[in-house]
Amino acid sequence: MGHYIIDAWSIIEEGLDPSMQEASESIFSLGNGRMGHRANFEEKYSGETLQGNYLAGVYYPDKTRVGWWKNGYPEYFAKVLNAPNWIGIDVEINKQQLDLHKCELKNFRRELNMRQGTMERTFTVVIQGKKLNISVRRFLSMKREEIGAIRYSIKSSDFSGKISFTPYIDGNVVNRDSNYGEQFWEMEESGAEQGAGYLMARTRKSGFVSCMTMGYELQLNRTTLALEANVTEKHDYVANRVTVEVGQGDEVIFYKYVSVLTSMNHDQPDMVQKGKRILQSAQKAGFDTLFEEHTKVWENKWAHSDIIIEGDMSAQQAIRFNIFQLNQTYSGKDERLNIGPKGFTGEKYGGSTYWDTEAYMIPFYLSTARDEVARNLLIYRYKHLEKAIENGEKLGFTGGAALYPMVTMNGEECHNEWEITFEEIHRNGAIAFAIYNYIRYTGSQDYLAEYGLEVLIGISRFWRQRVNWSDVKEKYVMLGVTGPNEYENNVNNNWYTNKMASWTLKYTLESLNQVMETDPEACNEIIRRTGFDVKQETAAWRDILDNFHFPYNEKMGVFIQQDGYMDKDQVMAAELDPSQRPINQHWSWDRILRSCFIKQADVLQGIYLFEDEYDTDTIKRNFDFYEPRTVHESSLSPCVHSILASRIGKHDKAYEMYLRTSRLDLDDYNNEVSEGLHITSMGGTWMSVVYGFGGMKIRDGLLSFDPRLPENWKGLSFKILYRGRTLKIFIDKETVTIENLEGEGLELYLMGVKTILGRDGSTVANI
Ligand code: BGC
Repeated sequence: MGHYIIDAWSIIEEGLDPSMQEASESIFSLGNGRMGHRANFEEKYSGETLQGNYLAGVYYPDKTRVGWWKNGYPEYFAKVLNAPNWIGIDVEINKQQLDLHKCELKNFRRELNMRQGTMERTFTVVIQGKKLNISVRRFLSMKREEIGAIRYSIKSSDFSGKISFTPYIDGNVVNRDSNYGEQFWEMEESGAEQGAGYLMARTRKSGFVSCMTMGYELQLNRTTLALEANVTEKHDYVANRVTVEVGQGDEVIFYKYVSVLTSMNHDQPDMVQKGKRILQSAQKAGFDTLFEEHTKVWENKWAHSDIIIEGDMSAQQAIRFNIFQLNQTYSGKDERLNIGPKGFTGEKYGGSTYWDTEAYMIPFYLSTARDEVARNLLIYRYKHLEKAIENGEKLGFTGGAALYPMVTMNGEECHNEWEITFEEIHRNGAIAFAIYNYIRYTGSQDYLAEYGLEVLIGISRFWRQRVNWSDVKEKYVMLGVTGPNEYENNVNNNWYTNKMASWTLKYTLESLNQVMETDPEACNEIIRRTGFDVKQETAAWRDILDNFHFPYNEKMGVFIQQDGYMDKDQVMAAELDPSQRPINQHWSWDRILRSCFIKQADVLQGIYLFEDEYDTDTIKRNFDFYEPRTVHESSLSPCVHSILASRIGKHDKAYEMYLRTSRLDLDDYNNEVSEGLHITSMGGTWMSVVYGFGGMKIRDGLLSFDPRLPENWKGLSFKILYRGRTLKIFIDKETVTIENLEGEGLELYLMGVKTILGRDGSTVANI
């Protein structure tokens, strides 16, 4: 059994194991789209801990650190930084500080309640031979996104004496991953008075301001006490200390409320006043009301995005954990925000945007949230188009060729390893594909004229310049790239990258025609704005399309990952000595590069995206060739394999890969959960259930379902939002039922058969 107890709606940990503390801090993380934090304790904890409290969109440009500088490297790596700590409450019991690393604890239990979006802890502490039962509940309000609230209850069993609470805000925080050990924040202003305190801090260089304001209430046996506080006001720390006399059997409850404002949404001159006002209104509402509002938002989120798996509790818990994390990381209200691979759960990857968003996250938000959510993710890239063109120029491209960054916060490239920064250019294709995916799902053709086409033109211009004609092959080739499989660098003709490039050119041509037909005025305006030479540029694109080189092995009938891949010693991953895995922690980079081992789906990523272009035998042949050579050392790998395995009837493999993606963090497959959760791969987990087992896709412009349940699942049900409708899909061993819960009727494919599903209240089934 794993470390966490299996439960349908909760993640539960029993016992406080210091060696697991940082892992659990990741697992029990909370967020609300605007902010989030790791599950650090309110009280002191002198053991190993990674403090993490993050504010969406607020970053520090940490000066690049590389061994050997290359022209074109960015000056900085943007990091979502660890912000002032507002959860802190020091607790003293008869003058002894409560330090959970040192005190005698009994029955420690921590629970992430996913239905309600709370972190709860209960334990008994023995101090001076006396017992006190402590229970703590914390949440970040989903309703009032600038509010966090904590309820800290101590119930004395046989203890009597003094208990002091010191709620504080502490600006003295660091990032573990700081390149030069710099402080990222400087303090602006602070203030403390009876019952309250605030701290305003500014990020160095990037100049973001955060203002945190706290208030509290103390109750003894449910009666609020007005206690004189000892006030501390320093430039980087504000606190109030209150002490209460407790007798045996008494319960003291300490409520801490905090408002967290940033300059992303407020002007600095008003921030202190606004912070106070927002806090006061929350405090007036009180903990219970805030909690109720908060859980209502969760109720609504679950109503749209829950997935029910019958007959497999571990899979059930895992999918809810993934959905929960996705919903608390990104709420889609702000087009300036995106999703870092670790969300709000750790420092790794800097909280910046990767191709992960387009390739793995958009599908989830498309089907479980209103259209605006996925649209905002697309607009984020539209707004960065100019910067992508500048990025292309830095690398020598001209004429409006756009290369989107590998990693970015504000549109500027942050990544600094040449083989990825300059060569892992397939990311451009994912951004183009996301536009297509969005339009295909929502039917919002207007998106092309409004935003999409301009992005597509920029990307296609890049591909045109990135290929060259080979006299030997008499084809266009693309040299010096890194595919999704980062265990190959600087290769020629990566099949996946060539596929993404040619597909983008084709889709851009189609989109151009379409916008010209439906909205000629807008089209001409885009042509004018982009300086597009319709005749000359489209002819060049067509020529590339007609003459693109794709490595292929006739004999085996498989697409070849890149030129020369078949020269490698062909060894299967199963033959690897288990003590050598993961190979990226045991082998030299040179050995990895020379091996045939594949980090994550590469050819198969392309087959997954364009599945309808290939017959089942082709998919099978490629799957059977590549999967055994894949070590799945990226969290983004198992989900794609799970979906394809479902498609080709390899149910055991699909299930094995599903567990690996969905329980990646809960079971810590890669031994790294302490660094944070794999938020972006969680979008992939959702896809492996809905696209894989649920068999959902868009076929000829219609929704289509062709499910295949894993052997041990009795039933699977999920809901999707589709063009103004809410549909509920229920699958058991014999039947697939689709119910229209809300909206107009529609035509769809059910197990390959075109069917009409009537308007709300109607149902179709395959019997
Ligand atoms: C993967 C990339 C991914 C990045 C962030 C890497 O390990 O190979 O595909 O974009 O992690 O999740």
